[in-house]
Amino acid sequence: MPTQTFIESEALHAERRALCRVVGELAAQGWCQGTGGNFSVTLDREPLRLLITRSGVHKRHLAPEHLMVLGPGGRPAEGETGRPSAEALLHVEIVAATGAGSVLHVHSVANTLLGEHFAAHGGFLLRGYEMLKGLEGVTTHETDIFVPVLRNSQDMPALAAEVAALLGDRPGLHGFLLAGHGLYAWGASLDQAHRHVEIFEFLFECAARRTSFEPFTGV
Ligand SMILES: [Zn+2]
Repeated sequence: MPTQTFIESEALHAERRALCRVVGELAAQGWCQGTGGNFSVTLDREPLRLLITRSGVHKRHLAPEHLMVLGPGGRPAEGETGRPSAEALLHVEIVAATGAGSVLHVHSVANTLLGEHFAAHGGFLLRGYEMLKGLEGVTTHETDIFVPVLRNSQDMPALAAEVAALLGDRPGLHGFLLAGHGLYAWGASLDQAHRHVEIFEFLFECAARRTSFEPFTGV
């Protein structure tokens, strides 16, 4: 019998199915319409092995074959073919800087508008909401959580360098926004990253709706 490769292993299939389940739930919320968003799970850190969505796949119908494994530097692992998501380099930077077990990137209406609205300020604060306690390490609603906003760019190496600088300056972040584009959130595990996306998106809805009837004072 031929030796089974890692790419074909049952352990990797389980990771593929788990990521597809989470992306399906995020898509059901309307947070990654069409081909929007990209998603990864860290399989190994040293050397890096990352399971990530391929480029251009419809996220509501994500299937295990729509995922691929990247190695160090975000290059396709041995035995892989095809192209990863265009923003794979950002996942690589986030994992390197934070040790994240999973990075999830969604395009919701609220996060798109909030990022655009606060881009000139470089970010905004979320404060006073009970749901803040869903972010790892937060134990009271009396907490200020800063959400950085970076300018959007199609120049991925330049954007990845900005992300690395941001994460170096602000250890302990759970996520940031790209202006007019979307949220990057992460966690120690896939479940924790999923929870962080849900919490951020709930809080973004609160913040976005508040800006429609009063000047938002979170800056
Ligand atoms: Zn995106």
